[in-house]
Parts: sequence; structure tokens; C-alpha cells
Amino acid sequence: MATELIFEPVARLSARLAAGELSSAELMQAFVDRTHAVDHRVKAFNSFDEAGALAQARAADERRSHGRALGLLDGIPVGLKDVIAVEGQPLTCSSKMLANYVSPYDATVTTKLKAAGMIPWGRLNMDEFAMGSSTENSAFGPTANPWDLTRVPGGSSGGAAAAVTAGEAPVSLGSDTGGSIRQPAALCGIVGLKPTYGLVSRYGLAAFASSLDQIGTFAHTVEDAALLLGTVAGHDPRDSTSFATSVPDYSAELKQRSGPWRLGVPKEFFGAGLDPEIGAAVKQAIDFYRQSGCEIREVSMPFTSEYAVAAYYIIATAECSSNLARYDGVRYGHRSADASNAVDLYFKSRAEGFGEEVKRRIILGTYVLSSGYYDAYYLRAQKVRTLIRDEFMRVFRECDALLSPTSPTAAFKIGEKVSDPLAMYLNDIYTIGVNLAGLPGISVPCGFTAGGLPIGLQVIGQPFKEPEMLAIARAYEQGHEWHLRHPSL
Ligand code: GLN
Repeated sequence: MATELIFEPVARLSARLAAGELSSAELMQAFVDRTHAVDHRVKAFNSFDEAGALAQARAADERRSHGRALGLLDGIPVGLKDVIAVEGQPLTCSSKMLANYVSPYDATVTTKLKAAGMIPWGRLNMDEFAMGSSTENSAFGPTANPWDLTRVPGGSSGGAAAAVTAGEAPVSLGSDTGGSIRQPAALCGIVGLKPTYGLVSRYGLAAFASSLDQIGTFAHTVEDAALLLGTVAGHDPRDSTSFATSVPDYSAELKQRSGPWRLGVPKEFFGAGLDPEIGAAVKQAIDFYRQSGCEIREVSMPFTSEYAVAAYYIIATAECSSNLARYDGVRYGHRSADASNAVDLYFKSRAEGFGEEVKRRIILGTYVLSSGYYDAYYLRAQKVRTLIRDEFMRVFRECDALLSPTSPTAAFKIGEKVSDPLAMYLNDIYTIGVNLAGLPGISVPCGFTAGGLPIGLQVIGQPFKEPEMLAIARAYEQGHEWHLRHPSL
């Protein structure tokens, strides 16, 4: 029973709770037990508060027994990437800089989860400050891919992806700046959804690159991703980039849409660098849509394929160099114990607190923003960003959505790319353009390699057209059973 339960979609768990077949306390206990059983190998969690989670589950049962359940998701656990604030819980961003930091407040998404009765379960490992594609940049050590513990789960939200994959949480929230939800979802064989920029509040999300960061969801099914998105989305006056738009009932809407759709396939996304096994699986998925009556159009996106990664690594590093200036040992973060004066304190605190990749990006970011180089790098990257957005908008005139691989390769070995930042950066070649253009994207499982590693299909939607994008992703999911496979561990 317990192994079944931990892999059940939230939609079904919710029905069981409502029918009285299951209590929230039993459900929470199943995830706690599973976490104790496997997390010493998976290492998805930085920390968790078992007693607090079980107490919240009992409180949910109490509400339900009085007919006062807070909604469909009352009493269901949700894992959180260790970059999203929960009052009274650690918020480390997997950095030594914040190793002892406890958040004094809730992020807006946390407030919304709590209002829905969901139980924030644990702090999930990540690349330090969300910089990376493998979770190896965590100051607390890497997370393992539940399908093969010698491989990475992807990143930066590797812990959030691995926890759902390994049955340690039914759903989780991560953040996606250049692919950090979709790429780990692909490498772990689950669903990962990055919403349109501005749909979900960033208040209480520790900032990496503010014009790109967006909170999104990990789940076993598209419907679960939609349920969780509906819970956390919506305008927030505390985030000036949050969009004033109404939040549809995504799980109802996605069932009302049935195609056939006009689907674009960017031809440049199938060129050099794409592992042939991944290419073949994604082409089969495209054939599935064709056979279900969709119109498949080859489109060309030369700007995005050629320049997205370069533009991203200028814009993201520029923004992070500014956002991370606050961690100086005075206002926030680790304070060096042996500084002789104030300036020395800043230098030593930052030198000791930040890891190698974060330092690399701060240095790059301050360089591209420095006078003399600003026009040549930062300003030019912003212009390229506009061209990339224009390119997406142009293809969207003739397509409802785009299909592509999520990641050029399946999960790679832990250690394989750590000494080659460029190889690591190329992991996001198919996801990064989506962030630069502010679009929604979702990765759904679309097969396995001969070696048994999951493969992801990316569906890219039009701004705020999540219902359409989710319906397209679900059409594929309903015709396949990849999402029903789970690692044995
Ligand atoms: N891998 C990309 C990076 O290292 C994206 C990270 C993210 O989306 N947070 O910047």
C-alpha cells in the first residue's frame, strides 16, 4: 500500500482524502517514512521538520472531520526548493552564505499553499543560488538521480525533481531562470512546468536573475502540475512584475481543450549537440501529435538557437551580481570571523560564503555592467533578447505552441561536467530562450534511453496561454504510459 500511495497523483490522493479512505496524517507519515528510507541515498532534502509536518497533517484531518476542509488540496504535502521562504524554516539557497539563515516570513506562494491547507514538506537541495544544471553546485553536496544514483538529477531544482521522482513528496515547487524546472523534470522523468513570467509572485523567492526567475511546479502528471499552478498563481501587489490577470481553473480548463493544434517544431533544435536517442524519442512524440490530427509545421528560429545561451549568460550574470550584493556579512549572510576592518570583512565574508560558480558569475556580471563594457555586452544582450522574443512571437502567429527536446542529453554522471562550465551551460540550450521571452514551458516524460534514463518533451506555450499548453501536454500524456514508471531505488 505504502509504495503505491507515494506515487499516486495528487488528484487521486485528494479524492481519497475526501472519501475518507485515507487521512492526511497517514499520507504525511508515508512520505516521512519514504524519506527516511531513501533520502540518505537520493539526498533530495537539505532539511525537514517531521514533527511540524505531521502536526499540520493532523490539523488538516481535524478540519476535514468538521466539514471545514480548505479545498481540494487540504492536507497534501508539497516539497519546496530551498530558495522559497517559509516562516520559521531554514532558507539556505544551498549556500554556506545562508547556512544558518531562518526565514522570518512566508513567500507569497507559501502563504497560498498554506491557505489551501497544503503542508510545506522539507527544504529541497539545489545548485547554490539556483546557478547550475546538475545540483552539484550545492554547498551541501549533490543530489542523486533516483533512476541511477551515480548520475545527476539535473538542476538547479534537482532536489525538488528528485523528491517527487523518488516518492518523497507528491508535488514540489522549484524555480526556473533558464531551465531549472524543465531540465531536471526531463532528467528525472516527471512533469515540470515553468509559467509565464509574471503569473506567479516572486515575493519571498531569493533572487538570482529577477527578470528571468519564475516559480513553477513538479508533479507526476500534467493535471497535478495544473492543480498546483492554480494554487500559487495570481497577482501580488508585493511583486511589481506580477501581472494583474485572473487565474483560471487550470485543471478544469485543460480538460475542455482538445485540439487539433498547429504545432511548430524549430528545426535548429534538432541539430548538432542533440543526443540521437533523445532526438528519436522527441520525433516519435511529434509523430504522435501528427497522427492525432495536429498540423505540424517546421519553423526556423536562428536567433534563439544561436544567441539565447550567450545573451542569457550576460543578462543573468549581470542581474545576479547586483542581487547578490546584499550578502555581505553585514546585511545578510555568513560573517567572517577574522576580519581586521570593514572592507576586509566584506571581502572575507563573501570569499568564504560563496562557492566557485557563484563567484564566477558575480565576476562576469560586474564585468559586463562595468562602464566601457556595458554597451558592448549588457546593452547588446538586451537587444538580442528583444530579437529572441520577436522571433518567438513571429512563429506564434502561425502556431499554437512549439515542440522540442527539453534537454540535449539524458542524465549525465556526477562529476562529468563540473570542470567544464561551458558544457554545463549548453544543457539549457532548448529551455533558456523561453525565459528570455517570458513564455510558459512544460516538460513531460516521452520515453527512456536504452540505458533506462528518462527523456523529456518540451511544449512551449504563448504568454498566459497555460491552459492550451497544458492541454497539449496532457494529450501526449494520455496516449502514453511513461509517467506511470517509477524508479525502484
Ligand atoms: N542552468 C541555468 C543556469 O545555471 C539555469 C538555472 C536556473 O534556471 N535557475 O543559470
